[in-house]
Amino acid sequence: MLLTISTTYQPATDLGYLLHKNPARLQSIEVAGGEAHIFYPEASAERCTAALLLDLDPIGLVRGRSGSNGEGFALEQYVNDRPYVASSFLSAALSKAFGTAMNGTCKDKPDLPAQALPLAVKVAVVSAPGPDWPRRLFEPLGYEVEIETTPLDPTVPEWGDSRYYTLHLHHAGLRLQDVLTHLYVLLPVLDNDKHYYIGENEAEKLLHRGGDWLPQHPERGFITRRYLRYLAAYVNPTLARLMEGDEDLTETSPPDPLSRGEGAPEMPVAESSGSPSPRERGRGGEVNGEGDQRLSLHDQRLQQVAHEIYELGPKRVLDLGCGEGKLLRLLLRQSKIEYLLGMDVSHQALARAAQRLHLDEMPPRQRTRLDLIQGSLLYRDERLAGFDAAALVEVIEHLDENRLAALEAVVFGQARPAHVFVTTPNADYNQLFEKLNAGEFRHDDHRFEWSRAEFSAWAAGVAGRHGYQVRLVGMGEEVEGVGAPSQMAVFETTL
Ligand code: SAH
Repeated sequence: MLLTISTTYQPATDLGYLLHKNPARLQSIEVAGGEAHIFYPEASAERCTAALLLDLDPIGLVRGRSGSNGEGFALEQYVNDRPYVASSFLSAALSKAFGTAMNGTCKDKPDLPAQALPLAVKVAVVSAPGPDWPRRLFEPLGYEVEIETTPLDPTVPEWGDSRYYTLHLHHAGLRLQDVLTHLYVLLPVLDNDKHYYIGENEAEKLLHRGGDWLPQHPERGFITRRYLRYLAAYVNPTLARLMEGDEDLTETSPPDPLSRGEGAPEMPVAESSGSPSPRERGRGGEVNGEGDQRLSLHDQRLQQVAHEIYELGPKRVLDLGCGEGKLLRLLLRQSKIEYLLGMDVSHQALARAAQRLHLDEMPPRQRTRLDLIQGSLLYRDERLAGFDAAALVEVIEHLDENRLAALEAVVFGQARPAHVFVTTPNADYNQLFEKLNAGEFRHDDHRFEWSRAEFSAWAAGVAGRHGYQVRLVGMGEEVEGVGAPSQMAVFETTL
């Protein structure tokens, strides 16, 4: 992978002093995972570009690897994107190659590090959850962001773009130290790989580097969450896996909206249709757009799903991504349901569900009607076979979009319940949440929020690929032009 930093500061060759690397020489240093070469493709008084070429050794990476080996396909450890994608390895290399500059010291020209420079950075390539993510991470820091996409396969355009992007950043005037620090912290956040070990003190440095600017960053919740997950990856792989769906482990993320119901009286949801519109309602300091409305909106959704299930009268029902078990509690009341299985990736959520449902004190007959299991919807799971219906209430938007295909294969390809109910926020409605800026999500952990058209396209694709028919339903009060706050797809097998 290649990173270049260019400036037109005069004299541009001052970049060499700042980086402590002589523009006239090629230098190679040993870094975690391989070798880094530092050289200057151009070095004139007008314009100077420093390049860092990171040459990772894929075989070495496998040998130096710690922790879990079991995931993915057999050759994955040899055939993967690690040598080509900007990751924690690039951060480690940046820190080793340009550590002095990152610390803001320059022996020969001590005033230079404080100087704001016009800077252009190119990173080939980054892997990101979606093309908007580089913008969300770098624009708040004052960068102009350009993303070069690459088709997955130029001969098959309908496959769309790959998830690898060439990233161009421009800044009108910034200290070099800051640019290096931003790259150091944010590139691994974009990449989000969990598998390779880079050394523990590197991890501490990563957190330390964000100290100045991270607290103000609008995506700090996402950044710290990805960090914790990423650090957990080599401290404790099991913990890392659990964190895939856990919102409670970072301080900067808003409180889990679902836990807000704890101790609070249950909302009489059925009567809430006359509630004031989002505009009329006060919202107290919530990060997410649904604010204090969320409880009732969310309860409404659950009621509506429970009602649909009731109408259908299935015997065996799955609640996938069951969280604290609010839907399960409603479903337990339906006597036609003989068996309920709640699954979630988060142990913490499951523990709370067990508590809220009073699993310990349940009479034996009732107790046999319900099980809670830990598992991920991204991995094939035999335990999910043989059900009449499955609900995924506000779950899909917590997964990176590029993992939905895995979820689809698990739910619609393998588990194959006769009916599947999937709900997700309706992004068309977001404009009614005053606190949400355009493009923002209702919750910090949402990886995407779909318009009605996007959800409908996805649902139709899933149905077509797996032998289901689908109908779409608005959840909550409809508003003309934007639809209801949430949306549901009801799938029914046709095979
Ligand atoms: N359905 C619940 C919870 C919604 S919040 C409700 O409506 O109240 C989303 C839930 O999805 C979280 O509990 C989270 O832990 C879970 N989740 C996220 N990724 C998951 C995955 N890969 N597999 C299973 N559950 C997941």
